[in-house]
Parts: sequence; C-alpha cells; structure tokens
Amino acid sequence: MLCRLNWPAFKRNFLMMTRLKCRKFEGMSLVVFTELGFYCPQADVYIDPLRKVPRAIVTHAHSDHARPGMGSYLCEWSGVEIMKLRLGKGISIQGLVYGESIFMNGVEITLFPAGHVPGSAQVRLSYHGEIWVISGDYKTLADGLSPAFESVRCHHFVTESTFGLPIFHWKPQAEVFADINDWWQQNAECGTTSIILGYSLGKAQRIMKYLNRDIGEVICHSAIADANRALERSGYEFGDWSEAETAVDGLGKDALSRSLLICPPNALNGPLIKKIGKHALANCSGWMAMQKSQHWGAVDKGFVMSDHADWSQLLEAVVSSNAENVYVTHGFSEIFARYLRENLFIHAEVVKVGHWNRTEE
Ligand SMILES: [Zn+2]
Ligand SMILES: [Zn+2]
Repeated sequence: MLCRLNWPAFKRNFLMMTRLKCRKFEGMSLVVFTELGFYCPQADVYIDPLRKVPRAIVTHAHSDHARPGMGSYLCEWSGVEIMKLRLGKGISIQGLVYGESIFMNGVEITLFPAGHVPGSAQVRLSYHGEIWVISGDYKTLADGLSPAFESVRCHHFVTESTFGLPIFHWKPQAEVFADINDWWQQNAECGTTSIILGYSLGKAQRIMKYLNRDIGEVICHSAIADANRALERSGYEFGDWSEAETAVDGLGKDALSRSLLICPPNALNGPLIKKIGKHALANCSGWMAMQKSQHWGAVDKGFVMSDHADWSQLLEAVVSSNAENVYVTHGFSEIFARYLRENLFIHAEVVKVGHWNRTEE
C-alpha cells in the first residue's frame, strides 16, 4: 500500500538531516584518520586509501600508496601514465598540475612537489582557514629528476618517518654518483657486468640520469623499461637505455661485460641475472647505511641513496611547514614524534594508518 507523503514532516526531517550533516562536518577535523586511511569528510575524499573507496587522491604511484579498485583517482598530472601502467588503463583518473587547485564541496585541494619520485605530490587541503598538508613520501633534496620538494605552510602537517633516526644521514648526491660510476668503471675494466638493484619507479630513473655512458651501455629490466616509457611519455628524461630482453642477446660478450644493468630487487633470483654470467651486484638504498645488516642480502656493494628524507631533511620539512600539529606516520614514528615534542616543542603525535612495509623505499 502506498503511503501519502506527509510533506511538512518530510521537509522538517530533511532539513534536520541536512543540518546534522553540516554540524557533523563543522565539528570534525578537516582530515580524520580512519581504518581506510586519511579521510576528508567535508570533501568526501580519501588520500592514499588502503581499501576500495569511491574517490581517492593518490600522492604517488608506489604500491603502498596507489592501490587498485578505487572509483576514481586524482593525482599529479605527470603521474597519470605511470598510475595507468600500474593500476590498469581503464581506471578513472584525473591529473592536476602542481600548484593548480580544484574544489571538492568547498575544500580547496592543491598538489605540491614532494621530490620523492616522478609524479609525487604533497596534498594541501584548505577549508574555512584550516590548512592540512599530507606529504606522502618525500625528500627535500633536489635530485634533478623529479620537481624539487616545495615547503608548504600549514596548521597540520602529516609526515612519514621511514628514516626517522639520527643515524640516517645522506651524502651529497654527486658523491654517490661518482662512487657508482667509479665502481662501474672498475668492473668494466675487469670484464665484469655491473648490476644495480633499484626500484622500478624513481630509484631506477634517478640512477640512470647520472650514469656515465662513456663507460658502457645502460640496460634495464623489463619492469623498469615499462616504467621508463610511461615516464618518458610524461616528459621525464634520464638518458639513453636499452631493454634487457633484446640487449643481453644483442650485445656482444665484450660490450655486455662493460654494461650496467638495472633490476628491481625482486628480480634478483630471476632468469635474467642468471643469463648475464660474470657480474658484480650492488644495491642502492637508504638501508645500505646499516652496515652488514639483513638489508644487504647477497649484494657485493652498497650505495647509500634513498628517495626518502634522511633525519635532517625530515626536521627541515617539519620546521619549514610551520605547523602547530604534526602527525607522524610510517617508519620510526614514535622516536621521531618524541624528538619533535621534547626538543622542538612541537605538538607531534603518531598516527597509525595502515600497515607500514618497506616496499619501494
Ligand atoms: Zn614511495
Ligand atoms: Zn611509501
């Protein structure tokens, strides 16, 4: 049986619901920490969500931030191609240029360079004078590949702390690349192919950008080759390279022994490395700062280089944000937050959003 609509009651209830909805958001923080990740109720959008949600802003395409299955994605413009490569061509995705703003239900959303990897962004959310910055992964050192980190002033700053211990201190990038090129040269002179392990998005291209091609050929594993092509389509440049599938058989034995191959760490036990023959193996990671630890694995040589901030860069980012409230996420969060409270007298707390893993540092 159909009920007749009690129009005055419906109107009263509807208006009450609307008021409740508005009050709820007014009373809430602009960003809240939920089981699904960082959520902005006013804009109804998640940042780097852990599970499927209708709308996601993604700071960068590493797998611990960009997950499949979202209704729609928003990311930095130059990250769109790599997001499609990793999450599927059919995803609904919008790219925003650094510094450009869009509004979601009155919330101004702007992306700023995070300096972590190509397409990485800090997300600034502003509403009624309250400003939040969710920085994702970042480094303040300009690596010459990704647009350099830009400090954004805010009231609330969310920072990672992957290398949030004072023992982590990165050498200038030029020194690390001089070491890498020296190592490659020595191997080439001994007829030994050089193999460097580096993640396929960011680390690999950063290494490629500063390799001295006078020594030999630069060869990339197919996963890195795919990422290279997506990034080249988005305007990034990192010098000449060839794909391992064709290059390893195509190059003569002599040229192959003078080459440098870049592989993602998970390809270490794959068929490609077995095919190479005599080789020297290096890893390029912030964890190489921990001498002879489990992070070294089977490698002969470690180069300390990370796309994350070291201890002093983390402090620099927090201080320059001028934030009254700092929220520390994945990494050495307890130690870093305590340091901020006790030494810099900043209100800092640990937030646990998702499970931190060390993939794609
Ligand atoms: Zn990352
Ligand atoms: Zn991460």
